[in-house]
Amino acid sequence: MAEMKVVKKVMKLGGRGAAGGKNEDTGLRPYWVEKIPPCTFMCPSAEDIRGYITYIAQAEKYGRSASESFTEGWHIISNRNPFPATMGRVCPHPCEGACNRGKVDTPVAINNMERWVGDWGIQHKLRARKISDEKRPEKVAIIGGGPAGLSCAYQLARRGYAVTVFEGSPKGGGMLRYGIPSYRLPDEVLDAEIQAILDLGVEMRTGVQVGRDVSMEDLRRDFQAVYLAIGAQKGVNLGLKGEDAPNCFSGVDFLHRVRVGENIDVGDKVIVIGGGNTAIDAARTSRRLGAHVTLLYRRTRKEMPAIEHEITEAEHEGVTYEFLSAPLEVVVKDGRAVAVKCQRMELGEPDASGRRRPVAVPGSDYEVPCTAVIAGISQTPVWTGIEEFRSEKGWIDVNEVHETSVPGVFAGGDVTVGLGIATQAIGLGRQAAEVIDRKFRNMGAPEPDARKIVRADQIIGLALNEKKPRQERRQIPVAERLMDFRECDTTYEESEAVTESKRCLSCGLCCDCDNCFMYCQAKAVERLDKSLPIGQHYKVIDDKCIGCKKCAEACVCGYIDMR
Ligand SMILES: Cc1cc2nc3c(=O)[nH]c(=O)nc-3n(C[C@H](O)[C@H](O)[C@H](O)COP(=O)(O)OP(=O)(O)OC[C@H]3O[C@@H](n4cnc5c(N)ncnc54)[C@H](O)[C@@H]3O)c2cc1C
Repeated sequence: MAEMKVVKKVMKLGGRGAAGGKNEDTGLRPYWVEKIPPCTFMCPSAEDIRGYITYIAQAEKYGRSASESFTEGWHIISNRNPFPATMGRVCPHPCEGACNRGKVDTPVAINNMERWVGDWGIQHKLRARKISDEKRPEKVAIIGGGPAGLSCAYQLARRGYAVTVFEGSPKGGGMLRYGIPSYRLPDEVLDAEIQAILDLGVEMRTGVQVGRDVSMEDLRRDFQAVYLAIGAQKGVNLGLKGEDAPNCFSGVDFLHRVRVGENIDVGDKVIVIGGGNTAIDAARTSRRLGAHVTLLYRRTRKEMPAIEHEITEAEHEGVTYEFLSAPLEVVVKDGRAVAVKCQRMELGEPDASGRRRPVAVPGSDYEVPCTAVIAGISQTPVWTGIEEFRSEKGWIDVNEVHETSVPGVFAGGDVTVGLGIATQAIGLGRQAAEVIDRKFRNMGAPEPDARKIVRADQIIGLALNEKKPRQERRQIPVAERLMDFRECDTTYEESEAVTESKRCLSCGLCCDCDNCFMYCQAKAVERLDKSLPIGQHYKVIDDKCIGCKKCAEACVCGYIDMR
């Protein structure tokens, strides 16, 4: 029905072709050309977002059950990301910011869809398909069982390699497990997705710290390639007088200890310092421990690097923000921090990060009383036993094929990008697996994707898409959230997931709306067998086509180019 409406609107636009109604052949011809949708282009792990969402959206049209489409949707997304249920909860989803649907009404709720499909995979115990059935002779060691290391392990195992992950902590997951609090990412979700990776035959040796329990030399001798994905485990100090008091914590240390069940007494007045995810997670966690929380940030809300949704939810949960405030000293009395001496700031010229530099306001010192201080300002890698890989800037340098200066040793994730987001770590892990695989097969570097990106202004028929309300995710009430660490965002009902999937515009690939066929007055578009792969369902009858462009103008996906 919706598609028919679109066609009627097109008809009203006027039936005269580009040739001015004289039926002259302009010499142009339609080409159905696949392009990269902006969501995939912006996704650091280049997930096939259009692929899995339209697979669900078109289930009925192709006679598939909803269940079949969710299962195949899971396989499509998992081809690039083994953590869809996890990322569907914690990814800041840059894809949505780029979604062309945003120019029609609001972006597709891609992150909610990812969570739905990921949870479906967990509920149905789905396992990824192997890319190759062969058993490769080479063995690969992966150092670090965070998202980068596990993504690399997953992709190598799917290609038939024997992979061993060395993980210093008792469990895998990296910052997903020991940084991100369980009210955002429950253990059982992460456990299930890691188990699916291990079920491919990946061995994970937990509690083994490379550089302490086993040396790099041993690994280089016993394995044909090594992938370093050690992240950045250590919180950076404030560098202030008084911060060595026992009730001052680094953000990652505090979150780690709470995550493993340690009972930390932070008292009733916590000061959190910083504006990123670690600071917000520490603030929301402290609220759950019963404290009033003041978060000090030296810039304004606009410059906060934390995920916007998290900033808002922290506010809903009663975290007080004190912007344009920088700490000067931790005031210690009887051996414990009792206040933070601060200074007011104002914003000056932009710095190297492009954000306006905070400048101190002279004579504006003041004190904020506290029972604990948590510094969530940054993290740095731990180098014990692997110092040779540390670059001057304190991270690991790699070349364009993810290899370090030591041949056969590759690296990725936070330790190469200097703190990023989990999806980026997943993408880097996959890319490294691809180059390691190609190296063993004596193949060159993979070819870059030559497809063009399709932006909203290149979809001539964009405005013909019907407006449809976005299906939002819900949260449990604040009072309930603060009682313990239960998950606070809820997921879709099945019908909501299907409804939301139908908002995807299928940018850059045919959605089978038939507009090109129905609107062509010259009857120059032929419909082909729908059992052909998607994108190959129409062709032009050259001697009937007059190049009037109406098919391209009526294409709601930006799939047709006139040449
Ligand atoms: C508090 C916090 C909140 C965050 N929130 C989000 C969010 O909401 N969304 C998002 O996308 N990103 C978020 N991030 C960032 C995200 O977690 C990281 O970008 C991502 O985890 C990096 O993955 P990685 O695999 O490179 O490193 P990590 O996740 O840090 O994993 C590295 C692993 O290597 C292990 N290791 C280190 N050294 C050794 C060694 N020598 N031997 C053996 N094992 C070793 C560590 O124990 C760890 O398990 C957050 C980060 C933090 C700290």
